[in-house]
Amino acid sequence: MPSAHVPQGKLPQFTPFAARSPATFSTVCWRLASEWLFIALILLRAQPAGHGLIRRALHFLPQVRPDQVIVLESPSDLMGYLLAWHYSRDAACETIKEVASFAEFTVDRHFPIFVNASSRHVKRIVTSWERSGFPDQAARVMASDLYHEYQHAQGGADECRALTAQIALLKQWRDAHLLTIAGPYISAKETESRRFCGP
Ligand SMILES: [Zn+2]
Repeated sequence: MPSAHVPQGKLPQFTPFAARSPATFSTVCWRLASEWLFIALILLRAQPAGHGLIRRALHFLPQVRPDQVIVLESPSDLMGYLLAWHYSRDAACETIKEVASFAEFTVDRHFPIFVNASSRHVKRIVTSWERSGFPDQAARVMASDLYHEYQHAQGGADECRALTAQIALLKQWRDAHLLTIAGPYISAKETESRRFCGP
């Protein structure tokens, strides 16, 4: 999935610290503490369905650390992160609108990787993980999606390169007989990659 990109003009304008209105040390500490409290509350809240799936997927993807993936119950949960990263409210709303339909995404091609638990694609993998007879295979499909985003988060790989890496991983597991149910998904990704990479 593409990475959300906020045009430079819409990024918040930072005021150099020294140029801000004078703040006492305790005010600054309180401001920092409330920001972190806000993030901690979001993290405590963020235990949606699919958490076990992500944990298992990461087991198959040692390149990605657990703290580099965040599961959002809803795209609007991204707001707290964007505000904590000093996005203006308008830029944050625009970014949330932009990523609302994505299953997984990065913001400005940086870690963390966000997983949108409310997306149809993620819900489908969660159902397969919980109810099919092949939970590990469902976890590998999710791992391949995370691997795709990892390509973006690492160096902003273009869509063709990210898809090529994802397809290679899926095929590696398929050829090792570790992934037997993902034929249609691999075909869909190949069709997508022809669109981005050419025939
Ligand atoms: Zn992508």
